Amino acid sequence: MLVLVINSGSSSIKYQVRQVPSGADSRDAGAGEEILTKGLIESIGQEGAVADHSEALDLLAGRLDGELDGREIDVVGHRVVHGGERFSEPVLIDNEIVRAIERLAPLAPLHNPAAALGIRAIQKKWPHMPQVAVFDTAFHRTLPEHAWRYAIPDELYRLHGIRRYGFHGTSHDYVTGRAAEHLGVPREDFDGIVAHLGNGASVTAIKGGASVDTSMGYTPLAGLVMGTRSGDVDPSVLTALMDGPDGYDAERMDRVLNNESGLLAIGGTNDMRELVDLAENGDEKALLALRMAAYRLTKYIGGYHVVVGGAETLIFTAGIGENSAPFRRMVLEGLGALGVTLDEEANEVRSDEVREISGPDSAITVLVVPTDEERAIAEASVGVLEDRG
Ligand code: ADP
Repeated sequence: MLVLVINSGSSSIKYQVRQVPSGADSRDAGAGEEILTKGLIESIGQEGAVADHSEALDLLAGRLDGELDGREIDVVGHRVVHGGERFSEPVLIDNEIVRAIERLAPLAPLHNPAAALGIRAIQKKWPHMPQVAVFDTAFHRTLPEHAWRYAIPDELYRLHGIRRYGFHGTSHDYVTGRAAEHLGVPREDFDGIVAHLGNGASVTAIKGGASVDTSMGYTPLAGLVMGTRSGDVDPSVLTALMDGPDGYDAERMDRVLNNESGLLAIGGTNDMRELVDLAENGDEKALLALRMAAYRLTKYIGGYHVVVGGAETLIFTAGIGENSAPFRRMVLEGLGALGVTLDEEANEVRSDEVREISGPDSAITVLVVPTDEERAIAEASVGVLEDRG
């Protein structure tokens, strides 16, 4: 089947067309997976560019006509950031589902309205096209309440939905499946920890193949030290800055913590390769940034090791997790108390395959597992379509 995977932002649409074999078994075997084309439409809504999502879709359809040699799309899969408390798996989209995605906008003001615009533009262009929504939060719907609750007044949860949701779920889910497959263990028996380390980064505790805790929270700002996000800070820092002489408002606070913090703030760049180069050449700030990020991650790993009743596997994935051998080494060096050891040579190997980087004597198997959110979305979309029969 041909799947158009769409990641719709407020001013851009990222897309891929993928060939996905029918039938879950052939997908597990990884047979016939292929990217036919991919691209990006930018500057939507800006003067002199594409007027809106609907026009962007016309442009996209034109490109696909030229590139697919008359082959037709069977289903469209959308990445949707927030599924709130309702969505625990991918769903076939109808009008009620689009409205539900729009109603979740207060929880994801930049992302959900954009996803809804993309969906509606396709409804308009291809009214009979089946569309599937795949939610970033869905995989974390298995968190127990003691993990997803914040210890704040009940009404803040009941009236405003303030709780931990967690994100990057599609990736955490996908690499968990790949790792279980690689190790030859049934997914239901998989106990481990996934570190998704991209520009945004989160770590998830996996018990019996399901998410039982995760470092991102009400928004993707919580948890690890990220490229430009602070991760965990004492919430009183916010009130102190708002009350202080500079009188920060919500917008400025948001910008500082999301765009001007993290590795960038401490090390002067959020590019992992640059940071490692700088640190190797004696740059103290870069070294501190790396140490902070690695330290924060080791604290979460230690905690989640306990949470899952003893992790058997630790997975590194995404841009930094897949590519930065020096950062992985720093993290593993902090895990000596768990009996984790590193195979230095294996850690340096570059590959698109799942690979083991722990030493033969390591108490926990450490894997590098390349993530592929588009593939996961494409396969989930075909799965939903097949279930519909
Ligand atoms: P996102 O999808 O969250 O934007 P990615 O998963 O693409 O992020 O990861 C981006 C991060 O990966 C950046 O910090 C970048 O420096 C890092 N990265 C990408 N390639 C490499 C590499 N070859 N070595 C080290 N770090 C890398």
